[in-house]
Amino acid sequence: MIPYGRQSISEEDIQAVVNVLRSDYLTQGSVVPKFEQAVADYVGANYAVAVNSGTSALHIACLALGLGEGDWVWTSPNTFVASANCALYCGAQVDFVDIDPDTFNMSISALECKLQQAEKAGTLPKIVIPVHFSGLSCDMQDIARLAKQYGFYVIEDACHAIGGKYQNKLIGSCCYSDISVFSFHPVKIITTAEGGMAMTNQPLLAKKMQLLRSHGITRDADKMSHEPDGAWYYQQIDLGLNYRLTELQAALGLRQLGRIVAFVERRHQIAQQYQTLLSSLPLDMQYQSEDCYSAWHIFVIRVHLTVEKKSHKQIFAALRQLGIGVNVHYIPVHLQPYYQQMGFRKGDFPEAESYYDTAITLPIFPDLTDEQVVFIVEKLSEVLK
Ligand SMILES: *Cc1c(COP(=O)(O)O)cnc(C)c1O
Repeated sequence: MIPYGRQSISEEDIQAVVNVLRSDYLTQGSVVPKFEQAVADYVGANYAVAVNSGTSALHIACLALGLGEGDWVWTSPNTFVASANCALYCGAQVDFVDIDPDTFNMSISALECKLQQAEKAGTLPKIVIPVHFSGLSCDMQDIARLAKQYGFYVIEDACHAIGGKYQNKLIGSCCYSDISVFSFHPVKIITTAEGGMAMTNQPLLAKKMQLLRSHGITRDADKMSHEPDGAWYYQQIDLGLNYRLTELQAALGLRQLGRIVAFVERRHQIAQQYQTLLSSLPLDMQYQSEDCYSAWHIFVIRVHLTVEKKSHKQIFAALRQLGIGVNVHYIPVHLQPYYQQMGFRKGDFPEAESYYDTAITLPIFPDLTDEQVVFIVEKLSEVLK
C-alpha cells in the first residue's frame, strides 16, 4: 500500500539521534535550544518554544494568551480535533467558522459575518485559530485586520505548513498573528517522531510558554518571590505541565530542518504532476492564491459525484483495493460525538460538510516517485470512469 504520507529519514538523521544517546543529556541539554534557534532563524520569528507535540503547543499558546472559563475560541471545522480541543483544555468554549469551498480554509466572509453577529450578542471570541489546511496559508492579512477591529488574538495552526509561505514570508514568522504552532508528527513536513513548536515575536508570550512547558518552575532569581535559598533552589510560580521535547527528538528535528527546502520542493513537483495529470478528470483541486506557496502537507481532490457513477465511499474503497492508501481530511470536528454532545448539529457548517462528502487525500511525500504518481493517476481515472 502506498501511504498518503510518510517520513523521510536518512542515515545522517539516524546518526544524529545515536550521538545524543551516547552523550550526557537525553533531555534538557543544549540540543533543544539549538533546534529552537534554528527554526526561529529559518521562519524569521523572534522566539521558539519546543514541546512534545503540536497539540501541546496549541495548549500552552492558549494558556499564554490567558484563555479560560467564559472565553470563546473559534477555529475551522475542517481540521484535526486538536485545533478545537486546546480551547476545551482551558475551560473555554469552542465555535467554528465555515470553510471556503475552493481553498478548504476558514472563509473570511463567514468569519466577518459571524463576528458582526457575535458583537451584537456579546460573544466575541478571545482567540481565533485559523488552520493552514494542507500547508496553504489562510488570508492572514484579512484575519489580522479583523483581529484589530474586533479585539481577538490569533494563533495560526500551522501544523501542516512549516516551509510554506504567505506574501513571500515563511509561515511561522507571526507577521499577522500572536503565535504560530507547528507539529513534527511523522506525516508532517519535518518530523521529530512526536513534537511541536510555538513561534512568537512577543517576549512575554515566549517566557510564559517556556514556563508552562516545564511545570511552571523557574530558576530565574528575578522571578522569585524572595532571594533563592541556595544554588539548588527553584520556585513554582505558575501551574505548568511537562510538555518538554527530548534531546533525541531535537537532534532529529535539526537534521530534518536542514532538509526542509528539498522536502517542500519535492512536494511541489508532485503536486504539479498531479495538477497536470488530473486536469481533465471529474474532480476539483484546491485553489492556490498568488499570495501563497503551499507546504503541500497533503494533496486533496474533491470528486464530482453523480447518481450513475460510484459513490464517495466506493471510490475510496476501490483506490484502497488497488494499493493506494488514500485518506480523508477531515471529518468536520463539529460532527464528532464529543462535539455533538455539546450541541453542535449536522447542517451547522454546510460547506465543511459537503466538502467532507467529496474529499479524498492522495499520497504525497518526498520519497513518492514520479512512477508512483503516474500509477495513482491511472488507477484514479479508471475508478472515476
Ligand atoms: C497534526 C495536527 C495537530 C496536532 O499535532 P500533533 O503533533 O499530532 O499533536 C494539530 N492541528 C492540525 C491541523 C494537525 O494536522
